[in-house]
Amino acid sequence: MMLKNKNKCACNSIAFKKYYKHSQALDRIVEYVQCESCGMIIAPESTKYNLSRIYNADYFINVDYGWKGRAKILFTYIKYINIFICLKKMNICDFGAGNGYLSKMLIDNGFNVLAYEPFNQNNTYLEKSYYCDKPFDADIIFMVEVFEHFTNAFEDIGKILTDFHNPKLVIFTTRLTDNANEPIEDWFYLEPDAGHFTMWSKKSLTLLGEMNGYKFISLDDTFLHVFCRASDIEMCNNLKNLSIPTKFAVKIRGLVKGLFK
Ligand SMILES: [Zn+2]
Repeated sequence: MMLKNKNKCACNSIAFKKYYKHSQALDRIVEYVQCESCGMIIAPESTKYNLSRIYNADYFINVDYGWKGRAKILFTYIKYINIFICLKKMNICDFGAGNGYLSKMLIDNGFNVLAYEPFNQNNTYLEKSYYCDKPFDADIIFMVEVFEHFTNAFEDIGKILTDFHNPKLVIFTTRLTDNANEPIEDWFYLEPDAGHFTMWSKKSLTLLGEMNGYKFISLDDTFLHVFCRASDIEMCNNLKNLSIPTKFAVKIRGLVKGLFK
């Protein structure tokens, strides 16, 4: 059903489709709207929700149980990117590092990583001295399965980039609405109980990048993406040419099924 919404998308379109999903944790129906033009999906009312009902002590055990598998896949990808762009020479921020599993693997392998995690974590893999709770000068920010959790995404991500003094690169993962199966209500990623309130498309990520001075490059057309500072033309070109080898990507896609709850 196509409905006209008086709210405008960031891309200026005013035509939206609406979807409804029940959230057990919030005990309510969540309304999602998808822009007809750029394909981005947001939940406009999510800024008012009490998200502590979702991100409770059980969240990382029973809801987001894919973090370990994801970290291992990411680690493989990061080692691959490092062959072409020397990430080991850069200061890396693992944004939303959680229990620090990925940060620990990277640090053990010679990467310079500080874990940014504003929420207290118990049972971490990482020593406390590697954690920070304030933004710092980072060359690169990693944001693993963070982008879909924002409730006011354009503003919040713009602020993060400013707070971290516009890093050279943002390496992030999120699934794309371009690849969502139909009907979209059944798409596993459209899941309020996982805290997913912003689902991105290539078009909307390109726009977000442009608004903040970055080029958007999807490395595998599936879930691994990069924002590269647009002024660094050489790095942008390097990344555009760095397509993940097909065989490698297919193997990874096989592994990632079920890891993105
Ligand atoms: Zn739009």
